[in-house]
Amino acid sequence: MLNKEKTMEALSRMYEMFPRAIGELHSDSPFQLLIAVILSAQATDVSVNKATPALFAAYPTPEALAQAPMDDIVAKIRTIGLYRNKAKNIKACAQMLLDNYGGIVPASREELVKLPGVGRKTANVVLGDAFGVPAIAVDTHVERVTKRLRICKLNASVTEVEATLMRKIPKELWVKSHHTLIFFGRYHCTARSPKCEICPLLDMCQDGKDRLKATRN
Ligand code: SF4
Repeated sequence: MLNKEKTMEALSRMYEMFPRAIGELHSDSPFQLLIAVILSAQATDVSVNKATPALFAAYPTPEALAQAPMDDIVAKIRTIGLYRNKAKNIKACAQMLLDNYGGIVPASREELVKLPGVGRKTANVVLGDAFGVPAIAVDTHVERVTKRLRICKLNASVTEVEATLMRKIPKELWVKSHHTLIFFGRYHCTARSPKCEICPLLDMCQDGKDRLKATRN
């Protein structure tokens, strides 16, 4: 397992590789970001970014989305995976924002996770990107990369991965590290073809060394 110091060494190398890592979902407000993140569950950011311009043009606010006809919401997001459930969730989410929060997205995890379609990961993305509240959202890329590098145990749950990262990374770097780990996983240490042979972290990655050995044998 990589200790705190080695974890920060690994992250420093990733920061150098991806100095401009940021959230890739398009939005113009905390509300739009919240909706985009709900839509991005088990879907790519690219597919969400293709659908949200029409959705947000028609329904830019909680008021508008809460009153939107369900058929039209479905039509606007049907290219995104799980669109029927997501359509229900974003409409209900908009309604709950109006009913309980005066139409304002709450800047607290405790309140965010009460909204339909919002789990801890979604709440953490919104906290970090919309409100600048330190948080680490563990998605498939963050989990894969941290396990390959043995920053976290291989059998760690998503909650344990998050807790381990929060322990090993200084709080002021949580949001930056979250985005950097996603970029590193999305564009370099990918699920199917990690670029181990040109990886600046190879010397500290047993997984990468084992992969290269296996391909050479
Ligand atoms: Fe990922 Fe390979 Fe780099 Fe390890 S060496 S971090 S598995 S790309």
